[in-house]
Amino acid sequence: MQQHDHNKQASTISARTGERHHDHEWPRPESMPIYQTSVFTFDDVDDVLEYYTDRPPGRYLYSRNGNPNVVSMQEIVAQLEHAENACASASGMGAISSAIMATCSAGDHVLLSREIYGGTLVLLRTLLHRFSITVSLADFTNLSEVVSSLTPATRLIIGESITNPLLSVMDIKALADIAHDAGALLMIDNTFATPIVVRPIELGADIVVHSATKYLGGHSDVSGGVICGSNAFIEQANHVIATLGSNLAPFDAWLIARGIKTLPLRFKQQCLNAQTLAKWLANDERLQHVYYPALSTHSTHHLAKNQFAEELYGAIVTIGLKGNKDAVNAFMRAAPSLPFAPSLAGVTTSLSHPWTTSHRGFTEQERLAFGITEGLIRISVGVENIQDLIEEINDGLIATM
Ligand SMILES: *Cc1c(COP(=O)(O)O)cnc(C)c1O
Repeated sequence: MQQHDHNKQASTISARTGERHHDHEWPRPESMPIYQTSVFTFDDVDDVLEYYTDRPPGRYLYSRNGNPNVVSMQEIVAQLEHAENACASASGMGAISSAIMATCSAGDHVLLSREIYGGTLVLLRTLLHRFSITVSLADFTNLSEVVSSLTPATRLIIGESITNPLLSVMDIKALADIAHDAGALLMIDNTFATPIVVRPIELGADIVVHSATKYLGGHSDVSGGVICGSNAFIEQANHVIATLGSNLAPFDAWLIARGIKTLPLRFKQQCLNAQTLAKWLANDERLQHVYYPALSTHSTHHLAKNQFAEELYGAIVTIGLKGNKDAVNAFMRAAPSLPFAPSLAGVTTSLSHPWTTSHRGFTEQERLAFGITEGLIRISVGVENIQDLIEEINDGLIATM
């Protein structure tokens, strides 16, 4: 198995994902084979008993509990996040639900950022609510509101490194201190920033989750999720995943690992494109708002500047058109090369409409209170030539006038 080596740079760790698994075996493929098997075999009863007692690394029993492709991908994400360990699930929601279930019991309270991913809110409000886990929301850019929202039952605080779709950045170090003072844990969904931009565990977060469907995979061709944390916590989270059966499939783990090989390259280019685009849009009279944390007009710009690495601010730019749904439709129809796809993070630029997709789970009142209007378009910026992109977005904007 791959050695944890925190001294190597992310681009080196990523590029070498899945390699050197076969030093003592022939043939020695450079690309990791896909262990497309549900089960592994044993020599005899003594052999299986030895497996149960010693859990020798590199040995497996049943793919729901562990599989070489899944473990290889987990190890790389743990290294990139500077976490002790990681485990994987079949989707980002699989990771988030398993991490919560590994942490909380009936009677516990979970405090969520009010800008949290819609699925996380729906999970807590509609499903975990039935198991007597309570939830409330707070503005995580306002630390005194976070403190006053804690209850004696608060067990878990869940925030995001960059929120969707208004791209707020929160003070992870301060949130970790607040959580720990209250005897709670801090979980950060790092899907939008990726470990290339911020590593929440270094700032004190206890748990990091990812929708690997997004930047880790990076090609809009696979669903997956990853949880990072301490060895003890990952053991518990893995138990939840194996028991619920929300494990990641070997081929999907292989696709994510393949995506991670180019994560630093892709993501840096996407961030640079996003920054150029946001600056080009910043003073456009045809827009009501431009949200991007690199802009000094963004409400959390200073926090982002202090917290994020290498002057990178993520690859999502959100624009507010002056009109409503009709303007959004006009924009999309005039920019047919930019697909409307309610996801993000592929190498291809795509558009999303938070009002009708990611934020359907919130009431209309909540959406408006957060600043999510009908005219908002979220642009997931890809790796295309930036001048081509700017021309296509300009075509969309002309049609809204
Ligand atoms: C997409 C997403 C999720 C959910 O991930 P799935 O892979 O779709 O289950 C969770 N958090 C964030 C921030 C996301 O963008």
